[in-house]
Amino acid sequence: MIGPLIKGLALTIRYLFAPPVTEEYPEERWEPFPRYRGRHQLLRHEDGRIKCVACMLCATVCPARCIRIEGAVNEQGEQYPATYEIDLGRCIFCGFCVEACPKEAILMTTHYELAALDRRSMILDKEALLRPPAEEEQGERTRVPGSLVRISKRGPRWMGMKREKQAGTAA
Ligand code: SF4
Ligand code: SF4
Repeated sequence: MIGPLIKGLALTIRYLFAPPVTEEYPEERWEPFPRYRGRHQLLRHEDGRIKCVACMLCATVCPARCIRIEGAVNEQGEQYPATYEIDLGRCIFCGFCVEACPKEAILMTTHYELAALDRRSMILDKEALLRPPAEEEQGERTRVPGSLVRISKRGPRWMGMKREKQAGTAA
């Protein structure tokens, strides 16, 4: 009877003097593992051209359907994404988009501080995705004004509500 009591007390006393395992965030930052899947980043070639060729593979494979791409062709006849958006509020950080990309144009950084005050701020556009997260933290967080996600039977559909209304194309 007294044995388990002493054993329990000894365990309590041992942990009383052990170093704490908790971290005082945000003063103390958690150091993610190198393969941690955090905020995405689009990459450029050395000459500054965006690597993405708007092939839509990432958007197709994305299980959360949170990638929106609009392709365009430049003067050299190369395809590039005129629009590239990821809704981090929907993303499940599975990494499928990175694995599917044939051009190694997108990667997932270890940046994990992604909290925002509203859902629209969770939508990162191409310019935001091209910036490394360290720069993104210092600068203004880019968001897409007026963008919403509508869930229909066929899956989520992205809408630029304000822009469509302004253009008189809204249903
Ligand atoms: S990490 Fe997964 S859910 Fe997020 S954008 Fe990529 S494919 Fe979609
Ligand atoms: S799979 Fe790669 S190249 Fe294709 S649209 Fe996505 S990021 Fe761009």
